[in-house]
Amino acid sequence: MKKGIAASKGYAIGKVFIYEEKEIIINDEKVTDTSNEINKLQEAVNLCREQLEKIKLKTIENVGEDEAAVFEAHMLILDDPEFLGAVETEIKNNHTNAMKAVEVVSKQLIMMFEAIDDAYLRERAADIRDISKRMIANLAGHTIGLEVEEDNTIIVAHDLTPSDTAQLDRSKVKGFITNIGGRTSHSAIMARTLEIPAVVGLGDITTYVKDGDIVIVDGIEGIAIINPDEQTKKLYIEKIATYEEEKEQLKRLIDVSIVTKEGREIEVSGNIGKPEDVAQVIANGGDGIGLFRTEFLYMDRESAPTEEEQFEAYKYVLEEMKGKRVVIRTLDIGGDKTLPYLPLPKEMNPFLGYRAIRLCLEQKELFKVQLRALLRASVYGRLAVMFPMISGIEEFNQAKAIVEECKRELEIEGLAYSNAIEWGIMIEIPAAAVMAEELAKEVDFFSIGTNDLIQYTLAADRMSEKVSYLYNPMHPAVLKLIKMTIDGAHKHGKWVGMCGEMAGDEMAIPTLFEYGLDEFSMSATSILSAKKILLNQ
Ligand code: PEP
Ligand code: MG
Repeated sequence: MKKGIAASKGYAIGKVFIYEEKEIIINDEKVTDTSNEINKLQEAVNLCREQLEKIKLKTIENVGEDEAAVFEAHMLILDDPEFLGAVETEIKNNHTNAMKAVEVVSKQLIMMFEAIDDAYLRERAADIRDISKRMIANLAGHTIGLEVEEDNTIIVAHDLTPSDTAQLDRSKVKGFITNIGGRTSHSAIMARTLEIPAVVGLGDITTYVKDGDIVIVDGIEGIAIINPDEQTKKLYIEKIATYEEEKEQLKRLIDVSIVTKEGREIEVSGNIGKPEDVAQVIANGGDGIGLFRTEFLYMDRESAPTEEEQFEAYKYVLEEMKGKRVVIRTLDIGGDKTLPYLPLPKEMNPFLGYRAIRLCLEQKELFKVQLRALLRASVYGRLAVMFPMISGIEEFNQAKAIVEECKRELEIEGLAYSNAIEWGIMIEIPAAAVMAEELAKEVDFFSIGTNDLIQYTLAADRMSEKVSYLYNPMHPAVLKLIKMTIDGAHKHGKWVGMCGEMAGDEMAIPTLFEYGLDEFSMSATSILSAKKILLNQ
């Protein structure tokens, strides 16, 4: 048995699939038998075709035709004689080994495409990067990506990126365990959204298991049991049954609203990452959406989503929520969330660096696409927009000035937007919490982002299992900042939500209730148990 950090509730029993993206060393060795090298290349290309065909079909089945188009594009590159022909020539003429030849030719092509002043052609560079990575992995005999074949799989990995987690095939993956990570890392948050039991921060679990081992993931106690005996397995089968039964019982609270003895209504809302997650919030009786992490719309793709794509996504969520409040957060990229097409500087402390609103204020064009989409979608429901990582009022004012610019553009274009949008900020930097009373004069609402607020207050990296013992939501300093935030907002008649994981933490809910928090927003799977606790206050 190994003890880690409980990252996503629930139990799972399944077969281990070790996921590792090994670093491939490409050497400069020359080959004498060039035709043998070209044969190897052909085999790798054929394998790429088979893999891409499979992924394409799976994507059509799980997501849709449009999303599968990218794999079609990759296959076309494999058929392009200019690419493969150049690789073969490099092997023949220079006796370069196949892996190196793929690297050399793809680098040239990528550079060429990236220099072209045409967004469509620049995207081809990303396609070539992807396909050459796959070819090199095949030549090295490595697996690439998280393509799970078997049912009842438990993924074991050093770490999973948020986008790895978002892509997990729920019908096959029953749980995951990782060496590193914390409870509020984005892969853990994603696992909760997907309702996949997970334990992170297990140290060196990847060295203890091999493919095909049986493992139990206990996402409640935060433990992993490798090759359990029959008795333990039986115990867990019973635990799973009880857990499912309790979940069933909670369903009676779906339509229950929380009203305090004084008649104050409290909203229990859901956090989402993708528009389709809204269904789970509704199914669990959420009073609204308290956080739409829009950065997930920007992930797993080759370029940023267009205004039209974003407009459709926001409109969908607003319409589905039928007049209930939807709080959409503007792009919060950086920290542990990166995008392949948006190069960020390599920083020593990315969580303290160039991220979220800091990046958006500088990359104004990127920001404007999102703001225009939000404004246009606002007529389809009750929209609230908030900016992440606000440290002071200047950033809010700058963001609002860009909003005004977008509004003027839309007016000229004759496109409608609502004047009822609420504009708020996340309180996740201690400075903002301390200054809450002043900030409250300017904004419509606050949403407390405890995942970051805790890490910044206690100087304890939310991603690190080593300092997770310091990462304590109930630390008096954290509680004091939360109270200051709520009091500061209420003094100016503004409402305060919390969308960090603490809002769904059963131990914290009574205190937050006592402080007067107006809205609790959490993973959909925590909504009903939170309602149960709030009903007892
Ligand atoms: C937070 O920091 O609490 C939050 C909700 O934002 P994220 O987890 O996406 O950083
Ligand atoms: Mg945050």
